[in-house]
Amino acid sequence: DEKTMEKIVALCKGRGFVYPGSEIYGGLSNTWDYGPLGVEFKNNVKRAWHQKFVQESPYNVGLDSAILMNPQVWVASGHVGGFSDPLMDCRDCKTRHRADKLIEDTGVNPAGWSFEEMSQYIKDHNICCPECGSNNFTDIRKFNLMFKTFQGVTEDAKNEIYLRPETAQGIFVNFQNIQRTTRKKLPFGVAQIGKSFRNEITPGNFVFRTREFEQMELEFFCKPGTDLEWFAYWKEYCKQFLLSLGMKEENLRLRDHEQKELSHYSNATTDFEFLFPFGWGELWGIADRTNFDLTQHQNHSGKSMEYFDQEANERYVPYVIEPSLGADRVALAFLCDAYDEEVVDAEKNDVRTVLRLHPVLAPFKAAVLPLSKKLGEKAQEVYQLLCKHFMVDYDDAGSIGKRYRRQDEIGTPFCLTYDFDSLEDNCVTIRHRDTMAQERVAIDELISWIEDKLAF
Ligand code: ATP
Repeated sequence: DEKTMEKIVALCKGRGFVYPGSEIYGGLSNTWDYGPLGVEFKNNVKRAWHQKFVQESPYNVGLDSAILMNPQVWVASGHVGGFSDPLMDCRDCKTRHRADKLIEDTGVNPAGWSFEEMSQYIKDHNICCPECGSNNFTDIRKFNLMFKTFQGVTEDAKNEIYLRPETAQGIFVNFQNIQRTTRKKLPFGVAQIGKSFRNEITPGNFVFRTREFEQMELEFFCKPGTDLEWFAYWKEYCKQFLLSLGMKEENLRLRDHEQKELSHYSNATTDFEFLFPFGWGELWGIADRTNFDLTQHQNHSGKSMEYFDQEANERYVPYVIEPSLGADRVALAFLCDAYDEEVVDAEKNDVRTVLRLHPVLAPFKAAVLPLSKKLGEKAQEVYQLLCKHFMVDYDDAGSIGKRYRRQDEIGTPFCLTYDFDSLEDNCVTIRHRDTMAQERVAIDELISWIEDKLAF
């Protein structure tokens, strides 16, 4: 519900995960800055993705391509002509709406509809402006979502370029470079994490939809005819990725696109949707895009995008499977999924806020807590030992109970208390975030003990 979202936003701001952007100047709407804990958390999400999709995959390699690209790229990709939202203004209160979103809010999916079909539906169902209740709308018109800027010193049309609206095209234009230099045979994939920009009409819901965001995209190239098999493979792989990081299965649903909804070039598309506090929202789009993108670039650049298949002794433009995930969006999903308020003692009205994040995603893997300030020096030694291996926190302020609660709230999975017995037995007490259970572990074994908990 709405309250939960407000609490998550407040926690993010209060504990240094995410701040409103440019705050001292009154902000810039829908921009957000990741603070000290947020940068650790989001980096952990990106690292986990890279680990599963590159490091542990026998097929995939990485790439980090430029945000600014030759404008012809966006002509070839279809973004100059077609990357637009159906916009409509309310004549009475002057607010701007996406016609497709207003229709979606009635439980109907308008994907693939023409502007006429959308207009007709809005009239027939008397859909009104959510702001003022009027049904006096302008016609629907196209609004291109790409951010324009100028390259070089003169601000003329010749120097107009775009901020990329997706990372995928950087992969397509490098297809031949990567194939040649890695000497990879099909099937293989290229994975990239980076910023993308879209001039969204209706950003909102915290970092769910922003105009500047990060994407984690894989373009997996395969032989035509094997594409549906690989589509199924990556769909399952993506699902297992989320589940292995602790995402609750009941908050996840896979929605296969119907024929009418599919782009003309797509053989299959599935949206992974997550149940956010504000409702179901798209998390991950997985599409079989056939040879559309490479063929477009072949036609526009005049450079061959063909692959020579030695085994079959034939040349063809590969098909591609594209799982495309928003880093900010999936980070938000993990946060919402992990957020919990647990009643510790109903009579005393004692409730603790816990982020039940998978240890590998948690900003701090552990916090070192000296029971008494007198033990500070020895506790610091434990901290110094661990910080070479993991992000760890050190906290000696306030009662031990209060310190536990502070760590619960930011998702630290293990609190390591150094007490007076530690001077004798060289052990610390590990207090588990989720169960609050405690156990005694030798300082010598801490590194491998924590390491074990980070597997996913
Ligand atoms: P939507 O329908 O939500 O606008 P889309 O279908 O346009 O999304 P894609 O173009 O498929 O999204 O982008 C792939 C992924 O990138 C999305 O599943 C989402 O996780 C992420 N993403 C897209 N747009 C945004 C945005 N404005 N802010 C944050 N993440 C985004």
